[in-house]
Amino acid sequence: MSVKAKKHLGQHFLTDEGIAKDIANTLTENGYENILEIGPGMGVLTKYLLQRKSKTTVIELDRESIAYLNDVFPVEQLNLVTSKDKFEVIEGDFLKKDLLQLFPNKQVAIIGNFPYNISTQIVFKAIENRDFVPEFAGMFQKEVAQRIAEKQGSKIYGILSVLTQAFYDVEYLFTVPPSVFNPPPKVDSGVIRLIRKKDYSLPVDEKLFFRVVKTAFNQRRKMLRSSLKSFNLSDSLKEATIFAKRPEQLSVEEFIELTKKIAKDGI
Ligand code: SAH
Repeated sequence: MSVKAKKHLGQHFLTDEGIAKDIANTLTENGYENILEIGPGMGVLTKYLLQRKSKTTVIELDRESIAYLNDVFPVEQLNLVTSKDKFEVIEGDFLKKDLLQLFPNKQVAIIGNFPYNISTQIVFKAIENRDFVPEFAGMFQKEVAQRIAEKQGSKIYGILSVLTQAFYDVEYLFTVPPSVFNPPPKVDSGVIRLIRKKDYSLPVDEKLFFRVVKTAFNQRRKMLRSSLKSFNLSDSLKEATIFAKRPEQLSVEEFIELTKKIAKDGI
């Protein structure tokens, strides 16, 4: 028995064991109590995750995959402990789950070969839950993986890059071709790893920071003094050199500085 791939769930099953192992091994051995895998499908990554000391929890939306994981997934033959302390299968939509409820006061490393249609929402959810998520790794559509990892000065540097890198150090690890999936996707995939910064607290109001970044990139061709008009900035502030730049020219640190300036304006 195997699961039939469904398009609307973004199912592309990885068929190369070597690559599955490499992806599972992107998580560092930092002694996290919990690993959460999103979208395990038939468990190709899961079996490598289960070789670790941590407990592995998987969340899967597809009923058929859930049945496969509960009934067919060869946990015993693989000599992996089957107790609930070690492996738990949860049916449902990751985007609707409350992480704090699933892992009360615990740190959880997140991994997956993510469904591409919701991959950026998964990243934003991880960022929102950063107090509990010290590490986040997995496979994305290559372009999205690059965008998350990209630095300023590039066309694909954007909201996702800045908001992720404000809290995490991002590494682009390797590219995976369509041929190792069933069915093959139309595009290359990329594997990245995010490790939460030691000090990841923002020195500015988070909501304002998010708003500045999003507003600036919504009109990415314009200079900041024009794209940030809705903030009603004073004329003297708008003369600062940073306001003559475009958002893609600003590093994460400069976005933080910019937010500080805006917060002080008019006080
Ligand atoms: N990890 C497997 C499957 C990858 S395909 C492999 O590498 O072969 C992506 C998986 O995510 C599918 O199994 C799909 O059913 C699941 N999925 C899609 N949307 C989801 C959601 N919102 N929450 C949890 N799982 C989801």
